Amino acid sequence: MDRLIEGYRRFKTQRWLYQRELYAELADNHRPRVMVIACCDSRVDPATIFDGRPGEIFVIRNVANLVPPFHQGEGLHGTGAAIEFGITQLKVSTVLVMGHARCGGIAAALAPQLPEGTTFLADWIALIDPALRERARAEADPGTRLERESIRVSLQRLMTYPCIAEAVDRGELRLAGARFGIADGELEILDPASGRFIAGGDQRS
Ligand SMILES: [Zn+2]
Repeated sequence: MDRLIEGYRRFKTQRWLYQRELYAELADNHRPRVMVIACCDSRVDPATIFDGRPGEIFVIRNVANLVPPFHQGEGLHGTGAAIEFGITQLKVSTVLVMGHARCGGIAAALAPQLPEGTTFLADWIALIDPALRERARAEADPGTRLERESIRVSLQRLMTYPCIAEAVDRGELRLAGARFGIADGELEILDPASGRFIAGGDQRS
């Protein structure tokens, strides 16, 4: 906690101070254009990776950046609620699902046994189809394979949300996928035409 308070004091006397007009304006105007669905992992903060200013990126984070299928049954759907808020209230024009290398959630899905002493985590990881896990285990690099596959699946599941399917059909919303490399700083972008990840966002022609 001491470390957090120290950091907050730096923020308040430096970054916030330089941007206080922006913060004042943002107080009544929350209009991010982009939603990023990312992992909770502390190494993959979207605002840092995309060099975002406050108010620019609406971020949803959960274990392994998964999108549950649209479901109206009982239960508390934190990710679904945040998705609906971003689409219907903020009206973002882009949704990016960003996975990352060395994802602990993906590693847990590939492990023979689920992490001990967990209740919610096991159900959450079960969102990753067992068949996908099996296929990934047969690969030389199962983690990378499943990280990429789960991004593709999350994008497909986003289309099961009526508010998303309708906005995409109207041409008001674009869905995208990417995977951040951590150690090399590379961002692989999912190419919608080929369905493959292309290394280096700036190397696309
Ligand atoms: Zn992760």
